[in-house]
Amino acid sequence: SVQTSTEDIYELHFGYDLSAELEEFVQHYGSAKAFLMVDAFVLKHHRTHFEKALKSHFNELHIFEVPRGEQAKNIEIYKQAVDFVLSEGAERGTPLIAIGGGVTGDLSGFVAATVLRGLPLIHIPTTLLAMVDSSIGGKTGINHHTGKNLVGSFYQPAAVFADVKYLETLPEKEWVNGLSEVLKYGMIHSPEILEQVNTLIKENTFVDGKSWLPLIQQSAKIKVEIVAEDVLEAGKRAFLNFGHTFAHVIEKQGDYKLYSHGEAVYAGMIAAVHASNSLGANIDLSNLMQFKPLYKLNLNEVKASPEELVYLMKTDKKVKDEQIQLILLKELSSPYVYKVSDTAFVQRAWEHTLNIFT
Ligand code: NAD
Ligand code: ZN
Repeated sequence: SVQTSTEDIYELHFGYDLSAELEEFVQHYGSAKAFLMVDAFVLKHHRTHFEKALKSHFNELHIFEVPRGEQAKNIEIYKQAVDFVLSEGAERGTPLIAIGGGVTGDLSGFVAATVLRGLPLIHIPTTLLAMVDSSIGGKTGINHHTGKNLVGSFYQPAAVFADVKYLETLPEKEWVNGLSEVLKYGMIHSPEILEQVNTLIKENTFVDGKSWLPLIQQSAKIKVEIVAEDVLEAGKRAFLNFGHTFAHVIEKQGDYKLYSHGEAVYAGMIAAVHASNSLGANIDLSNLMQFKPLYKLNLNEVKASPEELVYLMKTDKKVKDEQIQLILLKELSSPYVYKVSDTAFVQRAWEHTLNIFT
């Protein structure tokens, strides 16, 4: 396994079977008790794997099962988790260990951030998306009926253990979901990632987390690097939104059911490349198009014209003064923030993207 220290903010561990590292890391906690918030699927299929590593140090493991799916990021489950942790006697130094995908991580992180004004938090991401994206950067939170991720806080974990052994059970659909973020890092930061993904896919290795380990590690480090320069999201961190301004509209149009986040981001990145090229860049779209066979989305279902999609971008909650902010590329690995005043080229980017996916 490899460890990266980000100016002592937290430790990142990557590897196949990190039991020994995890066991060693938790030794420094004075508490004989730990709380685990675990995704229901992961609890069922990987329980012995994480218990083995934790039982030697902790006499008491209190496990809260996080229901599967985005619905778990709600105030009711949050309340249940807080009740659980407090009634089972959490103290300031009692660690909370989140084991699951981004849903489990975001929810657990918010519990850790708020109970007793902060419990030590360890992330054990178990999806590709959580390993390369959501476990890094310190954003925690839950959804509100008026929108996603509207209640939350920034809260950094003490450590992240990205153990690719968990990926052995990850279905292909979830691999593809996380893959879009990996491709994003390729586009905005390290183009060689695109070739590496291509090679891995040709070898048909969506089952084998081990062969993906270097790429996962590289991706996570890119996020660490970008976030470290901009922890509270004022500048560079916006680059991580490459493809996402377009994607949010697609996801919403599909009522968050029709398209996965990853599928929407994939289409969104294609739109963003098209938009970048209209503004003078010369980026080969095949950098992304080579992965199209993995993405089966049909944007016919979006049922909105390019014009309407632009309107939806303008009226998105996060948009200030109806001004769309896009992350575009001057060239591969060279992102910039662009505030749109004339939307004609955005509309053309939508037209182009809708055509590709119909
Ligand atoms: P998820 O947590 O819902 O996991 C996806 C599915 O995979 C679930 O059904 C889960 O049960 C299953 N699963 C988890 N681990 C598994 C394993 N090892 N084997 C088999 N199945 C497994 O979704 P996700 O894609 O990991 O995360 C999405 C969430 O992350 C969203 O809520 C999003 O808002 C959030 N997110 C947060 C940040 C951040 O910075 N905090 C960044 C990106 C996304
Ligand atoms: Zn994303």
